Amino acid sequence: MNPRKILQKYGLSPQKSLGQNFLVDVNLARRLVALSDLPPQATVIELGAGLGALTLALAEASERVIAYEIDKGLIKALKAEGLPDNVCLRQGDILKLDWADLARELDQKLIIFGNLPYYLTSPLLFSLLKARKHLSFCTFMVQKEVADRLLASPGSRKYGLLSVFLGVWAEIRALMNLSPRCFWPPPKVSSTAIKITFRLPDRRPKDEQWFMTLVKVAFSQRRKTLANALKSLGIPRQKTEAALISLGLPVNIRPEALSPTDFVDLSEKLTPIFD
Ligand code: SAM
Repeated sequence: MNPRKILQKYGLSPQKSLGQNFLVDVNLARRLVALSDLPPQATVIELGAGLGALTLALAEASERVIAYEIDKGLIKALKAEGLPDNVCLRQGDILKLDWADLARELDQKLIIFGNLPYYLTSPLLFSLLKARKHLSFCTFMVQKEVADRLLASPGSRKYGLLSVFLGVWAEIRALMNLSPRCFWPPPKVSSTAIKITFRLPDRRPKDEQWFMTLVKVAFSQRRKTLANALKSLGIPRQKTEAALISLGLPVNIRPEALSPTDFVDLSEKLTPIFD
């Protein structure tokens, strides 16, 4: 596939603001799909169809592909180039998709693929986390740095909010690394393909809102000890320290040293009591 030639043919050029770095090799997309272990006769959603490299690989391996793309110029080009019959192309903004609605429409948990535009990776992951009960798994190509953060272990500098949230509700696996040369135009950074499989964990917070608030506040002040950071939530330092001791954790622990399940346990111990 030669993205530059296809774009030229339709008088288009890659739009940086939409993160348009197109895969140049359909075989790479095929490998990625094979590594994702699609169930037989799957219906898959693709986010950001672009010039269709991943769309074609998905169409070969599944029953049906519903591909979203925001750029009307690309949609015209894709249609003119011709798509397999089992691909349904929809114009729209993936950040505005209602995952629950889509799962109802397909009558199944969603399987989602995407070579994601960098600018929307984080908001998209947060929106998917909220909708996780409607999701089966997602295979995404993301900036390597983002993948490193999602896969980071407690104690590492890269470990943060999303590593904790995904650590509770999903299992993440790196599938392959992709150099900038795999795309046109080549981005400045390398990418990693990851598979995020959502699950219902045994240990999960009873009050999700409270859990998320606690983790967000903890990481917003990661240079402080956890007990000091949580004071801004109105929790006295001594109370957090007592909870940490009861969990067998040091009182002066910093937020990045807690595992996702430590955070779940701590949030249960510190649940506010409302009158
Ligand atoms: N899937 C293609 C590939 O692998 O070659 C294209 C990937 S490119 C990195 C990202 C694609 O997402 C672009 O085609 C871009 O126009 C599209 N896109 C960007 N923002 C979007 C949004 N908010 N909603 C839907 N598509 C979007």
